[in-house]
Parts: sequence; structure tokens; C-alpha cells
Amino acid sequence: MIRKILVVITVALWCAIGSPLAGQETETDVTIHVVQRGETLFRIALRYGLTIDDLSRANGLSNPNNIQVGQRLLIPNLEEAPQEGIIHTVESGETLQSIAAQYGVAIEQLVSANNLPSMDRINVGQLLSIPQPESVPLSTQTPTAVPTQVSSENVSTIIHAVQPGETLFRIATRYGVTVNEMVAANDLSDPTLIYAGQQLIIPGFTPPQLTVDLPSQITSLNIIPQVLVEGQTGIIRITTALPMTLDGTFLERPIRSGVSQDGLQHQILVGIPIFTEPGLYPLRLRVQDTVGQSTNLDLNIQIVGGGYGREAITLSADRLALLDTTVEESELTSMRNIMSAFSPQRYWAEPMGLPAAAPVISPFGRRRSFNGSPFDRFHSGTDFAGGPGTSIIAPTPGVVVFVGMLDVRGRVTIIDHGWGVFTVYCHQTDQFVAIGDTVTTGQVIGTVGSTGRASGPHLHWELWLNGVQVDPMQWVRQSFAP
Ligand SMILES: [Zn+2]
Repeated sequence: MIRKILVVITVALWCAIGSPLAGQETETDVTIHVVQRGETLFRIALRYGLTIDDLSRANGLSNPNNIQVGQRLLIPNLEEAPQEGIIHTVESGETLQSIAAQYGVAIEQLVSANNLPSMDRINVGQLLSIPQPESVPLSTQTPTAVPTQVSSENVSTIIHAVQPGETLFRIATRYGVTVNEMVAANDLSDPTLIYAGQQLIIPGFTPPQLTVDLPSQITSLNIIPQVLVEGQTGIIRITTALPMTLDGTFLERPIRSGVSQDGLQHQILVGIPIFTEPGLYPLRLRVQDTVGQSTNLDLNIQIVGGGYGREAITLSADRLALLDTTVEESELTSMRNIMSAFSPQRYWAEPMGLPAAAPVISPFGRRRSFNGSPFDRFHSGTDFAGGPGTSIIAPTPGVVVFVGMLDVRGRVTIIDHGWGVFTVYCHQTDQFVAIGDTVTTGQVIGTVGSTGRASGPHLHWELWLNGVQVDPMQWVRQSFAP
């Protein structure tokens, strides 16, 4: 049965309440149109002042005559040129040097924009985000870059390089400081006049602890990136002189670490939950040797906001069940139980592939308001367009731990990739794998559908890291292998 669905996601305006810049800040405009019965692409294009070509391009439609009731279409904003970076797929024979030369950027910029572990490790098929030349790659689209740290004698300061389109308000928000503090620290005469590339001091922002007195058992400790980002994954790498076990807490959660066979190389992957306030958070570590002798290490880690946008969503009366938090919460509880295990075996080694050959229509992390409610929910995954029947593929190896039907997410498959990493595939029509199956990269595990509470066919893809929902696309851009 096809029901008429009246869901319109409207343009969200960021209201800078309480800021001296109130009214000047406009959040990235996002308009999504849900196709209604009787509508054609031509009519929809007309309604938004666009052409069929504009809409086809923005949504990766191959046949403009084939749109479906309930399908979600991204309405491009043509007044603002898209500022999203270029994504380059590494081809056989390419090096970082050749790619940097091709786009006129420095190799260091590529390494930093993609958080690459080293300059010589790129893989065929890997996606690289290409930064704009002459600018430090930190954009609100891909909040993964690290602020620059400069030291002069014993004074240490965090510097933020302004990106195109950024405002002082947005920068202040990411670091949890006020616009007035930014104005004072940088001696700005007019807070509306900042320019791309300008270097701003972030006041009162404690730089990462780079010089910690390490206990003798620990020979090295690396935090990557040095400043962690809300909604993203960070890495803590520790080398011990002797085989050790490692535990502790961060953000009130137990720490779990993967360890090399010789027991010396430890890697902790941390997911920073969405809505974590910018600030300093204690990391408590304990290393224990084989005879039970333990040593503690405490340090503070800085977290900044992710700069995700907002979506205001208006639901018609017949879709209000979407707002039922009891159903949502009980589903999340079951999912947490399924994904509470920590497999010491790591199945992945490379950056992940994409789970479907389809364009992304809604990124992870956007704050969501439903029918005028506060923006206290967030988009917990990345949405891919793709008609019904589009193949869903395993982006990296793992073991299937759940295949079944959930209220909100519909037909769901969950894959355990080891070291606390799980991926979740929602709203499927067909499911081709069973619990206990081992899957390989590229294996077709199901097809795109609209089961559960989906307004139309799409793949909602989630990545859970030790019980925290993080941005899955970071795992496509970046390798987390030790
Ligand atoms: Zn989604």
C-alpha cells in the first residue's frame, strides 16, 4: 500500500542566540524533498527554481523519469557554490606526490587532510579528500582535521586557520569559547571581518599534553589527532617495554584496546559521542604486567565540536510515530546488547569501502528537530540514495552478528569487524547473509529498501565503536590499522 507521505525537511537557520552576532550566522542550508504521489521531477524542479539536470546531478539519478513516492531528493542550493572538497580515488600507480601535484596542493596538506598515518601508505581504491590549496584543511563538511599548535618557549597556543565560509561564531562554538573572548584574544576591531586563511588564537584553550612524564613501562604514547572531534574516531597508540595489559576509562566508559601478538603495541580506538561539550576530559589508563604489577597514567584530552549542521524536519500526523522515543530507546538498548562484545581479533586492515554504489544524501551528525522540538536528536548514520534493489556490500571483512527486523531501522544486518567496531545496514529489502557468516570486502549482503520507519528507499549506514555511534565516512577516508 502506498500512502501519501507529507514530509518536508525545511531549511534550518542557525539562530545565534545570546551571541553578539545574532542573526548573522546562517547554518548550511539543507533542503530535502520527499516525493509525493503524482509528482514528477519536472514539477519538483520547477517548485524549487531548478532544472531537471540540477536535480539529477545532485541525486545521482540516471533516469529522471524513474522517481518513486517517498524517495528523498536533495535540493541543491545553487546560490552558494558547493564548498565540499574534491574526493580523489587512488588509482594503480599513483603516489601521494603525483596526486598532490595533480591538484596543486602540498603533500603535507594531503597527509593532514586525510589523517594519513604516513606519507607512503596509500592504497588503490582509497578515497582522499583534496584540500583547497594554501589553506589548512579544516572544514565543517569533514571535521577531522587538527588545529595547528605553535610553541614559543614555554607559551603554547592553539591557532585556528579560518576556512572559507566560516564565521567567528562558528569557530568559537567549535572550541567552546565565546565570540567576545575571540575578539579580545585576537584584537579584532570588527568581528564580522575575518578572512579565509587568517590565523586566530583560540583563547583559554589548553593545548594537548605532549610532554607527559611517562612511567618507565610505557615507551611511547600517541594521540591521533591530538585534539579529538565530537562524533569522530580517535586513536591512542601505546608501546610498552614488556608485554602488558591495558585498561582504564575515558568519557565515563571503559577503555578497550587491541594488542599486537607480542603484547607490546596497544591501540585504543575512542568514539566521541555526539553532544560531547567542547572541553578537557581526563583519560585514565592502567598498565598491568604479567605478574599483576600495575601503574596508572592520567592525562587530559581536548575535545572540540564537530561543526555538523542542523535539519528541521516536519512530520505529518500519520508519521508522528517516528517521534516515539520509547520505541527508539528500546531498539537502541537491544542494539547496544548485540554490539557490547569486544572481539580481540581485528578483521580489517585497510580503509573501508563504500557500502553501496550510490550518492550520499544525508551525512552523519546533523542535529535534528522534529515539528519544532529542540535540536536534541542527531542523524546517527550516513544515508545513501539508491533505488530499491541496489546492492549493499560489505565495506570491509567481518562476522555477521545480527540479521533481523527492528521497529525503526527495519530489516537490519550487523557486522562485527573486531576491536569493538561494528557496522549496521538499515531499511533493507533482501538480506543475503546469516548470523555467524564471515563476509569479505565487496560481498553483497543485501539490497536497499524502505523497511521500518523510512520515508523512502535508502541505505542508512551506521558505525558503532565500543557502543558509540560515530561518523562511518571517516572510516572510508582514513585507515585505522595500527
Ligand atoms: Zn539515516
